[in-house]
Amino acid sequence: MAKSPPPAIPADLPPRLDLVVIGSGPGGYVAAIRAAQLGMKVACIEKDPTLGGTCLNVGCIPSKALLDSSERYEEIRKHLGPHGIAVSGVSIDVTKMLRRKDKIVRQLTGGVEFLFKKNGVYRVRGLGSLRGEGRVGVSDPSDGHLLAELNTDKILVATGSVPATLPGIEFDGERIGSSTEALSYPEVPEHLIIIGAGVIGLELGSVWARLGAKVTVLEYMPELLPMMDPDISKQAAKIFPRQGINFVFNARVTGATREGDIVTVRYQDKDDQTQTVTGDRLLVAVGRKPNTRCLGAEEAGLTLDRRGYIQVDEHYRAGAPGVYAIGDVIPGIMLAHKAEHEGIAAVEHMAGLGGHVNYDAIPNVIYTHPEIASVGKTQTELEKAGIPFRQGSFPFVANGRAKAMGQTDGFVKILAHAETDRILGAHIIGPRASDTIAELAVAVEFSASAEDIARSVHAHPTLAEAIKEAALGVDGRMINL
Ligand code: FAD
Ligand code: NAD
Repeated sequence: MAKSPPPAIPADLPPRLDLVVIGSGPGGYVAAIRAAQLGMKVACIEKDPTLGGTCLNVGCIPSKALLDSSERYEEIRKHLGPHGIAVSGVSIDVTKMLRRKDKIVRQLTGGVEFLFKKNGVYRVRGLGSLRGEGRVGVSDPSDGHLLAELNTDKILVATGSVPATLPGIEFDGERIGSSTEALSYPEVPEHLIIIGAGVIGLELGSVWARLGAKVTVLEYMPELLPMMDPDISKQAAKIFPRQGINFVFNARVTGATREGDIVTVRYQDKDDQTQTVTGDRLLVAVGRKPNTRCLGAEEAGLTLDRRGYIQVDEHYRAGAPGVYAIGDVIPGIMLAHKAEHEGIAAVEHMAGLGGHVNYDAIPNVIYTHPEIASVGKTQTELEKAGIPFRQGSFPFVANGRAKAMGQTDGFVKILAHAETDRILGAHIIGPRASDTIAELAVAVEFSASAEDIARSVHAHPTLAEAIKEAALGVDGRMINL
């Protein structure tokens, strides 16, 4: 990461602002731009040297850059034979791969800086804190020294989240760490141990397994992805172990130690026996926690729940006059697009408009190979709620485009209300699921029925035809299966 420039308050900052946003992640920066569009005088305070938050610096973007590089490497080594393409002498230059990732991050974080200038958003470098009604402190992040106090009508807290760890495990910033370190390992680990078979465990486990690391994932739960639709979890449990990722379920990790370059992790297995596993890198991926460090949230009258999330009402008001909060720091799924939409809705409420986020229509994607994507309810959720449903499921093995691509693992599953036919949930495991789920997210947002999708013309041959077939399947009339 670049060396921190000194904290800075723009010389032309107005004496009173309409809005101060604390944090420049996808929640904060998008909200600041929307506020500027609505005519507000807005400043965004960021403690880190670059804008864009977790997502652009150490999250979505760098992980996808590495997923893309490693997927190409894997494809060239293992999957070109059937196309008649013979390749030899393939090698990976990790330093170059990391440089490419860092360049993409630089371009995108620089892009946010450009957007701030274009929209007239004042960028303030420093640590933001709540100092009473309409007052935001700006301190030097290195020593906490107060540099300035900004006066504002409204304040939006968008301070995001930080990696969680477990009792008995301390990050050393090198061999034992979070996703941040795992995005920059200088060489391919011999044996990467990952705690947590969640999104980060699967995505970054895939990256390093493809590049040649032995990967062992210790997971507390008895199965993979229990929060996803049960058919998707079952399919994922078949696919990922075939990709060289070893899973140990029912593993309760109790601690980790490092000696030289060797890391030893202790855990209790399903029979409550103590086990150890050793490797050269440990990635702790057991979730993230809301970040309210140095914010002065409780002193300002904000309520934090048991897990540290800021409590908000339906307009994202955080309980103190003029203070709002959005994104990873409030309850809900931790996703960049959820943070963005909340940021826009919060600012629109401030402006007297009717901002709204439809939490049932937020797509959720895991960028493995194949990709996993879902929107709306799972079958388990519908069953628990006693909602009558019909379902259609179509496998990619029967889809012409997937066949042509040689990527036939997976299926599309659509759940629709048994009486109204309205789509309640949709789940895809398969090629390019991250892109094809968009159609179903729009369908859920528009309250579309399965029949609406089935009657919409889908180009041939495309992966999206599998969606149309699954929609036909809701009514038991698939053509190609
Ligand atoms: P953040 O992005 O965390 O931004 C908060 C910002 O506030 C940070 O820049 C921080 O420095 C700053 N800040 C905090 N406190 C202060 C303070 N007191 N003063 C000034 N500044 C402060 N989500 C997806 O949707 N898709 C993905 O593919 C995806 N991949 C991910 C991969 C990884 C490895 C990780 C870790 C996360 C990923 N996420 C993904 C989650 C996504 O990054 C977060 O949900 C998203 O960044 C949350 O946005 P936010 O604006 O709420 O907070
Ligand atoms: P996660 O919640 O997805 O997964 C954490 C996993 O760790 C779970 O399977 C959990 O059962 C397991 N776990 C918890 N405690 C454990 C213990 N003591 N021992 C063993 N296993 C344990 O969290 P994550 O993978 O760290 O990711 C954090 C957040 O970042 C996610 O909630 C997600 O919203 C976001 N993220 C999103 C994407 C994406 O959208 N593609 C990618 C990466 C991260």
